[in-house]
Amino acid sequence: MIPPIANKFVAGETADGAVSYAESLNRDGISGILNLLGEHYSDRGGADADADAYISLVRDIADADLDACISVKPSQIGLDIGDSVFRENLDRIVDAADDEGVFVWVDMEDHETTDVTLDAVCDLGTQTDGNVGVCVQANLKRTPDDLERLASVPGKVRLVKGAYNEPSSISYKKKSKVDDVYRDLLEYMFAEFDDGIAVGSHDPKMLSYARQLHDEYGTPYEVQMLMGVREDAQRELADDDVEVWQYVPYGDKWFLYFYRRVRERKENALFALRAVVGV
Ligand code: FAD
Repeated sequence: MIPPIANKFVAGETADGAVSYAESLNRDGISGILNLLGEHYSDRGGADADADAYISLVRDIADADLDACISVKPSQIGLDIGDSVFRENLDRIVDAADDEGVFVWVDMEDHETTDVTLDAVCDLGTQTDGNVGVCVQANLKRTPDDLERLASVPGKVRLVKGAYNEPSSISYKKKSKVDDVYRDLLEYMFAEFDDGIAVGSHDPKMLSYARQLHDEYGTPYEVQMLMGVREDAQRELADDDVEVWQYVPYGDKWFLYFYRRVRERKENALFALRAVVGV
């Protein structure tokens, strides 16, 4: 069982737990992006099992009539084993999700996976007429070109700052530079995309810039934030008629994810400490 301190960031160990958490989110006007925790499988059995779990999850989402979609990591469904394993499993998931009318996001991992991830999403976006979306990272120097390519592909694109420690030859290292590039890329998306813009950030500066661009260009957009992070802001935005999607991790591999959340921010570490000592 997940200890209460991890419940802030993870919606339980089972799909049932994630579905009932998403039901409560929906009551607050927020949609759910359900993510089964798991990555970097080196055995086909693990990758296939997680792909099967996503297929069962999209049926649960449809049966419960949830405002929810799924988000999948390439290395979770076989990319470390081989490109063809990843493609096979992603095809199976997208087929099932498309049948059920459930949207599929593909998370972006480190730079060695960018090409194969984008190639798969471009193919499937066209095949499903836009029922697939992908994340791109502002810290990578290649991202303006990738956005240009994605502008003509049906589907959504989530812009994030980038979570991976990439070589300086291909990425921006300075936080202020990544912020500047993030703003430039957002503006490009609002100007060039008809819809399907997802702002994947907790940063109040980026969120208000997105609103300003929306007012200027009229392009629709959605905000995506993580479970347990700035949830008051998520509710305020939803109350203000902004489309808000919360990324909701679940599953028995919760420890590493929880540990990352605690490490990335002093306030999260204090929260965990207070929960342990009971103050
Ligand atoms: P930061 O630049 O970290 O912080 C800027 C400001 O935001 C802070 O000063 C503070 O005001 C506010 N803030 C940030 N975090 C917190 C917090 N925990 N509590 C309170 N205030 C906070 N990365 C990938 O590489 N690939 C992915 O597929 C991917 N998917 C993502 C999906 C979603 C829905 C989200 C939200 C992020 C995803 N990321 C992904 C992570 C992303 O790349 C960033 O590492 C992460 O979001 C931190 O950047 P930020 O823009 O939120 O804010």
